[in-house]
Amino acid sequence: MSKEPQIVIRKAGRDEVDFILSDVELSLANSLRRIMIAEVPTLAIDLVEIQINTSVLADEFIAHRLGLIPLDSEDIDELKYTRDCTCEDHCPKCSVTLELKANCEIDETMNIYSSHFIITSGVGNNLKLGQPIIRDPMRKGILICKLKKHQQLHVKCIAKKGIAKEHAKWSPCSAIGFEYDPYNKLKHTDYWYEESVENEWPKSLNSDWEEPPIPGEKFNYNAKPDKFYINLETTGVLNPNEVFNKGCNELQQKLANVIFELKKLDQQSNTDDNSNINGMDSNINNTHNINQGDDYSNNMGRRTQYGGGGTQYGGGETQYGGGYTQYGGTTQYDDRNRPNRW
Ligand SMILES: [Zn+2]
Repeated sequence: MSKEPQIVIRKAGRDEVDFILSDVELSLANSLRRIMIAEVPTLAIDLVEIQINTSVLADEFIAHRLGLIPLDSEDIDELKYTRDCTCEDHCPKCSVTLELKANCEIDETMNIYSSHFIITSGVGNNLKLGQPIIRDPMRKGILICKLKKHQQLHVKCIAKKGIAKEHAKWSPCSAIGFEYDPYNKLKHTDYWYEESVENEWPKSLNSDWEEPPIPGEKFNYNAKPDKFYINLETTGVLNPNEVFNKGCNELQQKLANVIFELKKLDQQSNTDDNSNINGMDSNINNTHNINQGDDYSNNMGRRTQYGGGGTQYGGGETQYGGGYTQYGGTTQYDDRNRPNRW
């Protein structure tokens, strides 16, 4: 019977959570890490209209800095992606507009911070979405640039919803620590050392949560990692628990899509199978292999794409395994002269 995943929270703060995820596969734990870094939607400045810039910094330099300012994304679900919106470029349903008008009229250097931004157009009456995140005790935010007397900076910024897969500025995480098997019992890591591994590689603090290896113990070839030490640190745009929950939802959604597509193809190939049994031209089966662009599709006969006899993914004459395939056995990429093929 498979075990249920377990979570032990070791530390939780406003922008950080440290927890142990156990009784899951390494692939799942790592998928979750990658999704939390790159696929949780947030809000970030995407278009910058520089109206006046007489500061010493170039327009592009300032635009880049503005893109990296963390903006409150707690209510990001209220906002649409621009690509899904009916508008042409951007509108209040898919963007938040922030403006900054700074004129230095004093003799001293004037610092321009992210707290100087004003939201001029947002989603409905929501004034929280798009507010720059401020964490310093002086409540000033991030320093954008400095102005001398008579210098000006007027910018209009359009913040849009996005994910970090597209650009890192949309990542809700500043860092995610991820460790498993701190004693390296599974030998997934080779430590480079000069004299002694123990002296040159200090033990991680996570090793306190595991049983130390017994000297002379036999290597267990069946052992798998099942305890993952995760330290999730956010930029402040979302709470760490939200990043985790939204990450789980995204992963679930992705898996659901895969299952849905596979089922659809399965149904399609079942229909093809039936038509083949009825004595129709066997080439009709190959309609779903239209993108393959090779001759192997003609070998497939009445077979399904995912299972059974000769399929695209397994079994006899397939693209990925077994007899006449592209990647295994008698294949296009195999070195036939090698005596011991693997
Ligand atoms: Zn729109």
